[in-house]
Amino acid sequence: MKITHDFHVHTHLSICANETATVENYIANAKRLGLTKIGFSDHFGDGNIPGARGFYRAHPYEHNAELKETLANIHEPDIKFYFGCETEYHTPKRDIALTEEEAEKFDFIVVPNSHTHMIMPKEYIGNYDKHVAFMIQAYEDILNSPLSRYVTAMAHPFDICCHDYTSDVLINMIPDDTFKRLFDKTAEKGIAFELNMAYSKTMTPEDIANDCRIRMFRIAKECGCKFTFGSDSHNSSYHDFYHNADILADILGLTENDLADICK
Ligand SMILES: [Zn+2]
Ligand SMILES: [Zn+2]
Repeated sequence: MKITHDFHVHTHLSICANETATVENYIANAKRLGLTKIGFSDHFGDGNIPGARGFYRAHPYEHNAELKETLANIHEPDIKFYFGCETEYHTPKRDIALTEEEAEKFDFIVVPNSHTHMIMPKEYIGNYDKHVAFMIQAYEDILNSPLSRYVTAMAHPFDICCHDYTSDVLINMIPDDTFKRLFDKTAEKGIAFELNMAYSKTMTPEDIANDCRIRMFRIAKECGCKFTFGSDSHNSSYHDFYHNADILADILGLTENDLADICK
């Protein structure tokens, strides 16, 4: 299936993205790739939540809102734009770091359980059991939050970054039953499962088919989860490998019916 949306795109307003991460460059990519929907998901730190890390303090609403103005002045009739955000799990509160007041300002919201390089107690790093348990807890807390009704998709579930070990070792430790319990509830809540293609940057189609994430993705599908796709672009070249989204959709046997409503 041809994937014609990307609901995980960072602009240069995200301090971890570079200067090529412009709306203009993404529009050019979208035209080249035949994308008709771009969901911008800059990192967002809700200013009403005390104790945000420096990283999130750099992304209050007033900062991110610049994009909203940019989008208002763009006329591209064949592409639909969404002003969204990637917000965070709040470890001490065991909740989504978000208030209703701020949540209402976005077209869509994605929340990860896997930014463990930023939000997990440092002493868990390198302890695989604790690392896995932390992500499972965070995942459940996000689902159980009263704010979960604002969550469009779980961002890159269980896909860690910025550690000196990779997601594979952790994903392989999680039994089918655990995934099933979590993903049944995800489907029940109407929250989509994001297929974040950043992991596939250097992969061949064979690598993608044989990757350990496929087991997790298939369980999500069996549980009835709907999916969104995202590039997690932090610069304009992330779209160079976005055809992997089509490959993954075919491996999983996805049809239009498996996509979240916002993608259709
Ligand atoms: Zn992320
Ligand atoms: Zn992201």
